[in-house]
Amino acid sequence: MSKRVYNFSAGPAVLPEAVLKAAADEMLNYHGSGMGVMELSHRSSWYQEIIDSAEAGLRKLMNIPDNYKVLFLQGGASLQFAMIPMNLMKNKKVDFVNTGVWSKKAIAEAKKFGQVNIVGDSSDKTFSYVPELDPASFSKDADYFHVTSNNTIYGTKLMDLPCTGDVPVVADMSSNILSEEFDMTKYALIYGGAQKNIGPAGVTFVIIREDLVGQIEGIPTMLDYKTHVENGSMFNTPPTWGIYILRLVFDHMLKLGGVKYYEELNKKKAKIVYDAIDNSKLFKAHVTAEKDRSLMNIPFFTDSDDLNKKFLKEAEAADMVNLKGHRSVGGMRASIYNAMPIEGCQHLADFIAKFDKENA
Ligand SMILES: *Cc1c(COP(=O)(O)O)cnc(C)c1O
Repeated sequence: MSKRVYNFSAGPAVLPEAVLKAAADEMLNYHGSGMGVMELSHRSSWYQEIIDSAEAGLRKLMNIPDNYKVLFLQGGASLQFAMIPMNLMKNKKVDFVNTGVWSKKAIAEAKKFGQVNIVGDSSDKTFSYVPELDPASFSKDADYFHVTSNNTIYGTKLMDLPCTGDVPVVADMSSNILSEEFDMTKYALIYGGAQKNIGPAGVTFVIIREDLVGQIEGIPTMLDYKTHVENGSMFNTPPTWGIYILRLVFDHMLKLGGVKYYEELNKKKAKIVYDAIDNSKLFKAHVTAEKDRSLMNIPFFTDSDDLNKKFLKEAEAADMVNLKGHRSVGGMRASIYNAMPIEGCQHLADFIAKFDKENA
């Protein structure tokens, strides 16, 4: 295939074409260094400038206050499921909201370090909604309160935080970081894998309030946030190429108008796709309550496995790939991250309408 397609993958996912082109242009010779970024020493001034500007870009985009540290690590969100309790569970008690596969995995790791209270759970309806949360049921002495802000598999989002008092809020934002504006000061720690919405696989972002760093002694060096804070994410060799791509993505986003620009665009994009599903005879959305619907991941299906298969096959022939749903939900899923152009969403919506007419 020589042309580009609309890639609805849940991750690793679509990246801005301008970023891929910029990286291609600099592939052999980065800013006159005579080397490509992959070949640069992470101790070189060339590279220091790259990681510094990646951090500065993210700080600017998210309005991150000075008392938060920005880390670029490895191991994915999955390693954070363990690192967070390891570093934060002083009292060995935490509250979790269970909204899907990723929450469950985070809960399973936290349980290895202490008591986990589930204060909200939507497993009864295949995680198709965000559970009501009652602050009266929260633990006053919890080390933290954990939410998955966007449920990549089930297509719900939880960005309206309940009041947790002094209990720090920790959020897995793997699949919706930089998708909409929010107040960073309401969170104590935000983390995720970069490969959904902001870059390539191999980089993990952690934004952590500094008072949470270094609370527990004796943590293995590479698993202690303190190590990475003290060494500017360069205690060992960081994922240099991935961080460079993040920097290009952040610069690109800032040029277009930052998170505000993307939030408006993402709302339009999600509406285009959801309207097509809601207005069809054949298709149903997994998440029915509008307030719970993710801007990033839209699972949908028909009642027939054969029709789902036919849809996926014909969509691929029309240049729309990776629309197959996660095995735990079935059907289809359109991941429409920041870098998915609105034209891709319109193309999908038109295709849903056409398929509906032909098959209903
Ligand atoms: C993909 C994903 C993960 C797992 O990320 P890895 O980087 O592969 O470990 C965790 N949480 C959410 C919400 C995800 O979408």
